[in-house]
Amino acid sequence: PYKGMLADEVLEKRKKFLGPSLFYYYQKPLNIVEGKMQYLYDETGKRYLDAFAGIVTVSCGHCHPDVVNAVVEQSQLLQHTTTIYLHHAIVEFAEALASKMPGNLKVVYFVNSGTEANELAMLMARMYTGNLGMIALRNAYHGGSAGTIGLTALHTWKYPIPQGEIHHVMNPDPYRGAFGSDAAHYAKEVEDHINYGTSGNVAGFIAETFQGVGGAVELAPGYLKLVYDIVRKSGGVCIADEVQSGFGRTGSHYWGFETQGVIPDIVTMAKGIGNGLPLGAVVTTPEIASVMSKRIQFNTFGGNPVCSAGGLAVLKVLDKEKRQAHCADVGFQLIDRLRTLQQKHDIIGDVRGRGLMLGVELVSDKDKTPAKAEAAVLFEKLKDLGVLVGKGGLHGNVFRIKPPMCFTKQDADFLVDALDYAISRL
Ligand code: PMP
Repeated sequence: PYKGMLADEVLEKRKKFLGPSLFYYYQKPLNIVEGKMQYLYDETGKRYLDAFAGIVTVSCGHCHPDVVNAVVEQSQLLQHTTTIYLHHAIVEFAEALASKMPGNLKVVYFVNSGTEANELAMLMARMYTGNLGMIALRNAYHGGSAGTIGLTALHTWKYPIPQGEIHHVMNPDPYRGAFGSDAAHYAKEVEDHINYGTSGNVAGFIAETFQGVGGAVELAPGYLKLVYDIVRKSGGVCIADEVQSGFGRTGSHYWGFETQGVIPDIVTMAKGIGNGLPLGAVVTTPEIASVMSKRIQFNTFGGNPVCSAGGLAVLKVLDKEKRQAHCADVGFQLIDRLRTLQQKHDIIGDVRGRGLMLGVELVSDKDKTPAKAEAAVLFEKLKDLGVLVGKGGLHGNVFRIKPPMCFTKQDADFLVDALDYAISRL
């Protein structure tokens, strides 16, 4: 049994020693002390089915033994030097990652987070094109640093500092968007925006294929293909933010952008790439990377031996355990059952996503008014029933279901049964 600090004390110290901008889930926040694959345990030993994976960070499973072993073995031998010396782990990892990329996306930069990855991607886009303007989608989340905060398009995450030359276009949201699933209309809006709102030339376009923080919004089918063409005609490069959607989570494809049939010029990743390790990456083409050689691009911890060994182990586990196919299989059943539940409960306005990258949007009427209060009650209830989901969207009325990729069909059934029970007793 756990003998460490209890929730009340942790919370008290957190309030005293950590920044007040931190937020927590649940009225009485959970003190999670252990994790094993798709399960988390609190201080009392209560087990929770984790359907949010530490904000989509745990890919293989909490404390997956292969990843833990790789990290421990490397830690005992050498933890850190930086890239001023050679080390095999970073090149092995880079080679393995590059082998997962389509087209000419073969040059890897390692960083420590998604924010850093997007900062670097934006810098590359500007260096390569000589242009400044970036186009991002409304409802996007790309980070909270001084640069990426401009890309992020949710007021709750934005501090009022200069946001850079960023243009936010409509997000092609099939459920709430003005043009429904009509990708061409949204794409036309991007073209108009470039024509009217910029000099006509842009540095780049960035998008998540599945908006995560924004509430599990899958972009209208065909959108990226049309927009990539428009952006490239305007001199820009196309960046795919795969921080949440990569590594087979969508089931149908290894990368989220592949669901839209495009190949980006720059891909950013983090979260699932390290199964919990602080790790991020940017992958681009040799041509784009070459412009970065005009200066030194250096990152002390990027590609350190420990995280590289862990990251390589993650890629191997996902392959060995056939996690992409598993996500497709389990996700198919989960979404099917959620859609059946939608027929039963009017409060479920939309069930969307692919694989283990799903969203359930709660509404209180036919006008799709966000069921904010009900969502908050259900969220607590699910926790009491032992199921942890994520919350998303500006109104917090979307449940984000993005569990560790070892999540089983039985787990999916348990989650849906718990949701059914909770809604029935609202
Ligand atoms: N991009 C996306 C799509 C994200 O969801 C996040 C984090 N929620 C980030 C970038 C930023 O990642 P990090 O918090 O690791 O900096």
